Amino acid sequence: MSLVNRDFSALLSPIRVGGVTLANRLVMGSMHTGLESHPERYDTLGRFYAARAKGGAGLIVTGGFAPCHAGRMRDEPATFERPDQVAAHQRITGPVHAAGGRIILQILHAGRYGYHPAIVAPSPIKSPINRDVPVELTEDAILATIASYANTARLAIAAGYDGVEVMGSEGYLISQFLAARTNHRTDRWGGPLAARARFPLAVVRAVREALGEGPILSYRISALELIEGGLDDAETAWLAGQVEAAGADCLATGIGWHEATIPTIAGVVPHAAFAPATRRLKEAVAIPVTASNRINLPADAARLVAEGTADLVSMARPFLADPDFVAKVRTNRADRITVCIACNQACLDHYFTGQVIGCLVNPRAMREAEFIDATAASRKRIAVTGGGVAGMAAALEAARRGHDVTLYEAAAEIGGQFRQAAKIPGKEDYGLFLTGYRRQLEDAGVQIRTGAAVTMEALARGDYDEVIVASGVVPRALDIPGGDDPRVVGYTQVLDGSVAAGARVVVIGGGGIGHDVALYLAAGEDRGAPTVAGFAAHWGIGGARRPHAARRRVTMVKRSPGPFGRTLGKSTGWILRQELKDYGVRQVAGARYLKIDAAGLHIEVDGKAEVLAADTIVVCAGQEPARSLADLLEARGQSVHVIGGARLAGELDAKRAMLEGAVVGNAL
Ligand code: NAP
Ligand code: SF4
Repeated sequence: MSLVNRDFSALLSPIRVGGVTLANRLVMGSMHTGLESHPERYDTLGRFYAARAKGGAGLIVTGGFAPCHAGRMRDEPATFERPDQVAAHQRITGPVHAAGGRIILQILHAGRYGYHPAIVAPSPIKSPINRDVPVELTEDAILATIASYANTARLAIAAGYDGVEVMGSEGYLISQFLAARTNHRTDRWGGPLAARARFPLAVVRAVREALGEGPILSYRISALELIEGGLDDAETAWLAGQVEAAGADCLATGIGWHEATIPTIAGVVPHAAFAPATRRLKEAVAIPVTASNRINLPADAARLVAEGTADLVSMARPFLADPDFVAKVRTNRADRITVCIACNQACLDHYFTGQVIGCLVNPRAMREAEFIDATAASRKRIAVTGGGVAGMAAALEAARRGHDVTLYEAAAEIGGQFRQAAKIPGKEDYGLFLTGYRRQLEDAGVQIRTGAAVTMEALARGDYDEVIVASGVVPRALDIPGGDDPRVVGYTQVLDGSVAAGARVVVIGGGGIGHDVALYLAAGEDRGAPTVAGFAAHWGIGGARRPHAARRRVTMVKRSPGPFGRTLGKSTGWILRQELKDYGVRQVAGARYLKIDAAGLHIEVDGKAEVLAADTIVVCAGQEPARSLADLLEARGQSVHVIGGARLAGELDAKRAMLEGAVVGNAL
């Protein structure tokens, strides 16, 4: 997949939505930021969105704000329901408009998806992803809820928003009214689809009336439900027409309820996989339709608009990864975009664990005020040793401040562990990220020296004013009898292709890398690029699930008791666990490693001995910091900045590595 496309003209052309003309077709879609319930920090939110507006986003949609107390997502005040809240929101809209952007407020009633004790829904049916049973809404409460949407829409206009988006997908309250799965009412709000649709259509009409003509009324419609008892394609098309007739100016596509067990935005989802669902909507209405989900490359976005699948393209995470996404497309620098790798580690996983979102590949996201853009007062000569992501981030930030930066990497190419991660099924975008980032380093003037290390002579001569040590980690060796057997290999040897794994593999270690390597080996090195058809068949979209055939017999083993995968990402770990299950990967916890001999790996579990026969034993037992250079320099009294895995290998993760690199590089 390429980062570039010959013709972006359709994507960059203006479009009229309601009474508003948008400069281009690229929408920064709604995403919870974790700051919606913190009005005291709306300046941060304003700066965050303004950076995206300045970077050319045609339209920005805020994270969801509840129209009333019962509709909030969590047990915190993320509502917009009172006039005294208007001034705080002006601290969001003001900076966005000053940057030349357009922004609409998303109104989201969580219904039974709220994580608080007072949840409500059309019927008292518990969601599989929530422990509480919702209270059934009464007739009066339904009418009051409809009125609350209109009230929030009026407040949004008072606060300067260019309109609102009604969240009607992903399984929230409106979805809950629409689906027979969650709406068992026998009054006028339940029964056949026309009755179940009464609530959303009443909301749209009320909001339209509150907005008047002019401001944008976007309706996020569930184009594909991906659950039992949801709307089918024909019902969705009917609903789209009704929403249009009720007064919506555009339809934004939503894919899948949150309780669906099919991935919708993770890296395993092929690019633009859900475009056919958007196309069906487009055929059902005359108003503009927005495509979304796993569109992170400008070429895909341009194709969807040019071929008429969608009028606009919504991306949320790619705008976290690169606020200048549109500006780069417009100025022929699409191949310099910082590509979102769909890891969810700093965005969704942060939100789900009660933290403010950020971005793994863009440490500046939501920290805009903490970074300095001005050229440094004095130009320094800086050596960065280690071209993994920590070193790359440090080099880019330092070079952008005007320093003379040399990035040393011992391997033949920069990228460190990301280069290996790019081999894992579902992590192919890591490679695209490296391509775009490398070009940014070159543009910033960083001297990239691969296959080279900074010499002691150069440091002794004083060639550099500052040294940043980003030498990363060394994989931990296995310390058991027979650990030096030739069948015992490190994960780096497997992933870089220097060792060919046999038919029976034992993976030692149950961390993220152990899981990734087990998947890589079970899937086979020659598995080919993921296809939309293969993804749909595997996950059972439009039919029964079809598990892949495993290429090897893989057994994972770890010493600690308890289930595998507890350290995996909250929003993606379940997918990895399911994939491994599909491949028939066996997982053995609570093992004591005894020895390795001709028969294989001898272990003991609960006092019972077992031999795991293996042609290859891959060690994924964590890492130790690669600190020798740092230690040497510190011993000589030289001041060094040690970042990433070289500083702390335990809990090493790329998010911390890039953040540390960016902060150190920017501060010099
Ligand atoms: P890790 O998560 O720390 O896991 C290391 C594994 O090695 C543990 O499961 C541990 O299991 C085992 N281990 C530790 N010391 C050992 C020893 N002396 N002998 C044998 N086994 C030992 O490290 P990682 O898997 O290398 O991942 C590194 C970082 O990358 C993690 O922080 C992770 O966040 C990140 N990462 C995440 C993902 C993902 O989420 N998909 C993928 C790749 C990397 P026992 O102690 O139970 O044996
Ligand atoms: Fe994309 Fe990962 Fe950044 Fe989220 S944290 S925006 S998924 S790169």
